[in-house]
Amino acid sequence: MNAPLPKQALAELSPLHLELATRLNEHTQGEVLFDRGARGRYSTDASIYQIEPVGVLLPRTGNDVAAALGICRELSVPVLARGGGTSQCGQTVGAALVIDNSKYLNRVIDLDLGNMTVTVEPGIVLDHLNAWLKPHGVWFPVDVSTAAQCTLGGMAGNNSCGSRSIAYGNMVHNVVSIDAMLLDGTTASFCEESQMRDAPPRVQAIMARLREIAERERNEIERAVPAVMRRVGGYNLDIFHPQSPRPYTADGRINLAHMLVGSEGTLAYTRQMTLKLSPLPAAKALGVVNFPTFYQAMDMTRHIVELSPCAVELVDRTMIDLARGNPAFRPVIDKALIGEPEAILLVEFAGESSAEQVASLAKLVALMGDLGLPGSVVEMPDASAQKALWEVRKAGLNIMMSMRGDGKPVSFIEDCAVPLEHLAEYTSQLTDVFAKHGTKGTWYAHASVGTLHVRPILDMRNDGARKMRAIAEEAGALVRRYKGAFSGEHGDGLVRSEWVAWQFGPRLTRAFEEIKDAFDPDRLMNPGKIVRSSKMDDASLFRFKPGYRSIEIKPALDWSAWNVNSDPATETVSAPGTGGDPAQGLAKAVEMCNNNGHCRKFDAGTMCPSYRVTRDEQHLTRGRANTLRLALSGQLGPDAFTSDEMRATMELCVSCKGCKRDCPTGVDMAKMKIEFLNQWQQKRGLALKDRLIATLPRWAPWAARMPLLFNLRNHIPGAARLTEKWLGFSAQRSLPAWRRDTFLGDPTTRRREGDSRPAAISGGSPSPDTAEVVLFADTFNNYFEPENLHAARQVLQAAGYKIHIARPAETDAQAKRPLCCGRTYLSAGLVDQAKAEARRVIAALLPFVERGVPVIGLEPSCLLTLRDEFLVMGLGREAEALAAQAYLFEEFLAHELKAGRLQLPLKPLPEKRALLHGHCHQKAFDAVKPVQQILALIPELKVELVESSCCGMAGSFGYEASHYETSMKMAELSLLPALRAADDDTLLVADGTSCRHQIADGLAGRSAQHVARVLQRALA
Ligand SMILES: Cc1cc2nc3c(=O)[nH]c(=O)nc-3n(C[C@H](O)[C@H](O)[C@H](O)COP(=O)(O)OP(=O)(O)OC[C@H]3O[C@@H](n4cnc5c(N)ncnc54)[C@H](O)[C@@H]3O)c2cc1C
Ligand code: SF4
Ligand code: SF4
Repeated sequence: MNAPLPKQALAELSPLHLELATRLNEHTQGEVLFDRGARGRYSTDASIYQIEPVGVLLPRTGNDVAAALGICRELSVPVLARGGGTSQCGQTVGAALVIDNSKYLNRVIDLDLGNMTVTVEPGIVLDHLNAWLKPHGVWFPVDVSTAAQCTLGGMAGNNSCGSRSIAYGNMVHNVVSIDAMLLDGTTASFCEESQMRDAPPRVQAIMARLREIAERERNEIERAVPAVMRRVGGYNLDIFHPQSPRPYTADGRINLAHMLVGSEGTLAYTRQMTLKLSPLPAAKALGVVNFPTFYQAMDMTRHIVELSPCAVELVDRTMIDLARGNPAFRPVIDKALIGEPEAILLVEFAGESSAEQVASLAKLVALMGDLGLPGSVVEMPDASAQKALWEVRKAGLNIMMSMRGDGKPVSFIEDCAVPLEHLAEYTSQLTDVFAKHGTKGTWYAHASVGTLHVRPILDMRNDGARKMRAIAEEAGALVRRYKGAFSGEHGDGLVRSEWVAWQFGPRLTRAFEEIKDAFDPDRLMNPGKIVRSSKMDDASLFRFKPGYRSIEIKPALDWSAWNVNSDPATETVSAPGTGGDPAQGLAKAVEMCNNNGHCRKFDAGTMCPSYRVTRDEQHLTRGRANTLRLALSGQLGPDAFTSDEMRATMELCVSCKGCKRDCPTGVDMAKMKIEFLNQWQQKRGLALKDRLIATLPRWAPWAARMPLLFNLRNHIPGAARLTEKWLGFSAQRSLPAWRRDTFLGDPTTRRREGDSRPAAISGGSPSPDTAEVVLFADTFNNYFEPENLHAARQVLQAAGYKIHIARPAETDAQAKRPLCCGRTYLSAGLVDQAKAEARRVIAALLPFVERGVPVIGLEPSCLLTLRDEFLVMGLGREAEALAAQAYLFEEFLAHELKAGRLQLPLKPLPEKRALLHGHCHQKAFDAVKPVQQILALIPELKVELVESSCCGMAGSFGYEASHYETSMKMAELSLLPALRAADDDTLLVADGTSCRHQIADGLAGRSAQHVARVLQRALA
């Protein structure tokens, strides 16, 4: 039995739901979440719908699930199994008890390399499984675009299909057996029919019923089930009479697991499943065919497919342009282009021998010549280039969703599948349909199997529902004309279950209802999906219902760039601030989250460290964005924006800006957290600890004058405990030590009496045309590690630069206090105070900026504030001018190197290897590569980057007692283990002050250095 549920969460529940919550809490060991915020966070998936669930259970064991099904059945409460919640059609939303398998039920149960199978629990993520399998030389080859976050249970639920389905088939072709539980607790392994003789009587009865229905409907199956490779709508009654060119099983045997695949959790709960593995291809080659017209790309696909590639994927002109607009994707996509193609096809060949794949590539080149397009293929034999381009293709939909304004690309005819010979006609006519309805769609994805993704842009708050139906009907007519499938990849859910009758006719629809009733006579398993559904355009189920409005709120930062409207027909975007958002753009920025769940990924990149350690939807970018959206639209009750629930949701966000870069639609939660904190402190005030941290730059000069006193806490026994108790700073941490010898207090950096200009320090042999720079001494390096600034100065001097030290302007009312970027104020939501600091910085640096003198800083979180938050504080063109000239130390050197101006004499160091950890803000601003480039200038030094997310310290986050454990878990995810594995002769490099502190705390006896110190040591 769990701890009692929070009273507040229970207070608002109906008696039935209260009983459900209480019994689940008593009879399972799982997490029982019935509070409003949790229900809100589970009310959406990647579709246009929103339905509040009854509550959420995160089961720890199969027994928890069994108990939950039993309780739900007794209380007649529907049940909805869920993995990553990335379904596009509304499969995972419903007024049900949501059972989220992703947190605990995610183990590999068995690997049988002899039979090439693996048995897994439903909540395991595909990429995690494949990473686990890799050392064995095998993989699970249904490589969906959401591989980093979707679960195998969800993939089976939706009968998911990957980019390489032409070679490997869909999910259904790769499932050997499913160990399932029916609502009444009956369990059975659904597998090949002949092996199910010992199944429980209830299951035997279902099998007999299925046979009976299939025999009765044989003619109808042959008539109505489309004979295409991709068809995932309805139930797979055709396992008894297969229609697809790729049969369910190679030997024609009937496998009952295949009836459950694609059933969207409406028939049974998947406890475990056994999957068919494939050998990892030893060699791959990629050819990118560039087409002058979209029509040609579509028309020629059928010829390309004859070369037996394992994937042929489309990227159209709009997608190319959107990808080129993303700084991370631009260099990748540019390498794939010849001129300005209207479309490209990514054609992949894979197999055992690399010579064979290269030969296939040559055949592709020859084929394109024969088809009248000589010189149209970019050959990519290199694996890393291939991987990078596939990432762009996989991000396709998300790139498209980064469109601002209320009109969004909507998924409802997104995956109709047509035979290849009709692909060109079909796409051309559907494009005309879009135009007729005043919209556009972007085409991409699985050309090889005739399943092209397209999402017309619609405004669901306005006339979107009407247009959606009209377009769906016309698209349906085309699909029927070309004998295709309406649902070819993403399933039925809420948006397409209505179309099951259209696709399969009344007889099979009735047969599907009979199948549902045989498995689930109580009709409680994910009701309303596949059979007995609502209408696709039932606006009461929309996330953005007609008339949806955000509440009025005055944000502290400028969000007007999001407050726009876009016209899909003309592709124009209205001026910033004209979008009509009562929250002045903040709400629209929050609404950019389309719930695709990419923030649940665990691979490279930063996003989202708090999810990586908690695996909680609440501590995930998506969960935060949803909570903010619901609060900003008044759906969580009055004052929800400054509620304790919101505080708890934002608490573990470390403001790493990982999402700013990694979220495909650019949800910038760090900035949103500033808004939240700003409102919070206005209404609820600031804790003493937060005030102390925020105002650190103000009292720091005093601490520097009396370092012994201010450092007592680190030295007197028991003092740390007391500060933990009184202030909340973790006793398990040392706090950064104050220094009397601050950088700005050093005589060599002081301004001379009577000199109105900032101090200037020249390089060894300055010449009249010596380039100048301004060194911005941030609070942390100045007071805690001045040697870093001295090192930077020495390196810049050695490179011949004339150095000014940034000092407050003489007109500054607080001229005696050093400049500060305002970061500590921002981290407490004190935006006005941060703006005041920003104004001081601008006033001090503008004279340099106007002369074109670069501003250089060492601490990423400080210097990059000048390039980020300064621009949304309403500080005008002067802030923009400063931002354009503000560089991190290593960025500046790399910039000079590229321009051929860097003369830095360096000698080898005793250490021959450097391990680099990038600060999150460096990563968010693409500023890690410059560190690598500059370190690589040191002769004989091998530089390696640690694939790490946030170090977990994140400013003051990790110092706080309530965060200590989470902070250390973040560090232990990958950073500390990687550094621990390095031998003592390896240099550890980290530019972030807090990263260095975390590393020192986590690796007793070892420390990391700022890149400036490393270069200083290497000066010849
Ligand atoms: C950007 C984007 C790209 C996508 N690309 C692809 C693609 O390339 N190919 C593709 O096929 N799909 C794609 N999808 C759709 C979706 O990601 C896949 O269908 C994915 O496999 C769903 O996995 P999930 O874990 O998120 O499942 P969920 O969405 O959580 O669940 C899916 C279904 O499975 C059921 N289910 C989950 N667990 C169980 C269980 N234990 N027992 C019974 N039923 C269960 C659920 O009830 C639901 O009906 C994409 C979606 C997005 C947003
Ligand atoms: S926050 Fe970004 S990555 Fe996460 S679900 Fe929303 S849009 Fe996707
Ligand atoms: S800022 Fe970092 S911790 Fe916060 S939501 Fe974004 S990725 Fe997660």
